[in-house]
Amino acid sequence: MIDTKTLTIKEASEKMRKGEMSSFDLVSSCLDLIKEKNSKLNIFLEIFEDALEQAKRADEMLKEGKGGTLCGIPIAVKDNILIEGRINSSGSKMLENYRASYDAFVIKRLKESGAVLVGRTNMDEFAMGSSTENSAYGAVKNPLDTSRVPGGSSGGSAGAVSGGMALGALGSDTGGSIRQPASFCGVVGMKPTYGGISRSGLTAMSSSLDVIGPFAKTAEDAEIIFDCIKGRDEMDSTSIDLNDLENENRKVIGVPRDFLKEGVDKEVLQNFEESIEKLKKKGYKIVDISLPYSKYSLAVYYIIMPAEVSTNLSRLDGIRYGLRTEGENVFDTYKKTRSCGFGVETRRRIMLGTYVLSHGYYDAYYNKAWKVRRAIMKEYDDVFKNVDFVMTPTTPTPAFRFGAKSSPVEMYLSDIFTVSANLAGLPSISIPSGIGSEGLPFGTLFTTRQKSDKMLFSIEKDLK
Ligand code: GLN
Repeated sequence: MIDTKTLTIKEASEKMRKGEMSSFDLVSSCLDLIKEKNSKLNIFLEIFEDALEQAKRADEMLKEGKGGTLCGIPIAVKDNILIEGRINSSGSKMLENYRASYDAFVIKRLKESGAVLVGRTNMDEFAMGSSTENSAYGAVKNPLDTSRVPGGSSGGSAGAVSGGMALGALGSDTGGSIRQPASFCGVVGMKPTYGGISRSGLTAMSSSLDVIGPFAKTAEDAEIIFDCIKGRDEMDSTSIDLNDLENENRKVIGVPRDFLKEGVDKEVLQNFEESIEKLKKKGYKIVDISLPYSKYSLAVYYIIMPAEVSTNLSRLDGIRYGLRTEGENVFDTYKKTRSCGFGVETRRRIMLGTYVLSHGYYDAYYNKAWKVRRAIMKEYDDVFKNVDFVMTPTTPTPAFRFGAKSSPVEMYLSDIFTVSANLAGLPSISIPSGIGSEGLPFGTLFTTRQKSDKMLFSIEKDLK
């Protein structure tokens, strides 16, 4: 049995190319772990029955010297990314039986490379949440401590990598849903520049904020996945080609100290200061910066995001596709379907979004939020004239216990450090930076200029 909890994509790929390991054995080891652990952890909603067939095909490709770096590598996929012919429920009862009619762009790329798709991972309904407690299919447990949440909304994907059930995974990040669970599960999670990875085939949550990105054990592995799935796609008009600026020697880091004053756990802060010291020793220059508008980023996010959610989810009405609960007339059918099909958090956001977009309130809320969003974008543009990275902890606390966040607003605060990157469309990565006294991992967040995504992968080695 291969130790998939420690093996990296880089190592596995090299071994497979040399013929020292087969994809069949590697995928079998992941599947064994899934079979042993999944009933308790609830990470996978479905394990693909053809995973070993895919592995055999990858072994053939490897023998013939074909395929990419991900050839034969077991990858888990968040349940909101379409895979042709497979159920894609987005963690919702609404789409429980919905089958995708095409592959997402990122899935096409993974398939071309020869990656082995092992299964679909559990998530908060329509990617709304920070703990994966909002899934219609039950909460996911953190493989590092089952009394804790794995973070969310991509908690299943983060947990799959952390638990050795796949060597890499795909997630989506609208306000932190890759980076926050990565931090809670002790793995690397990265969100690209907005548009850097095509959203074609991603179930839309909030279209101006959504991105797809990788999870892996190391930044090097995350970069391998990123390189495979990035790039312009004609099916997504917002997609762009990214520059490759990896070799530029950029070493100035800005720290927004004002932002770190309130509500941050003591050990998280201590870990953050230790990370700063390590980076200083490696030659980084650390400077204080101020991001005065960023303290409004959660408020702005919770206006723009629900507005887009309410519009995007209006297509789920019981008529076109998904669940249908028959009513007395068409309006009754809408009402019954949407009341039965959506969970509490989803309904809350649809109502909030409909409200901020309504005639009398549009200017007061939605338009004003967009003005502040632009101010946040400008603020980052200005900051990046002087620094190369902005550094904060990924989350204010380590992984919390189930039910610990009793009000929605408390839950929303988990994303205080991650949302501004989405509002400004910036690339951002969470890197594991140590373990606390309760045995839970910390993550440190680095955000950089638009299209400089490659810069993010090189910091990890300096944090050691
Ligand atoms: N946790 C945030 C929310 O609940 C972010 C979600 C996401 O990035 N998909 O909206």
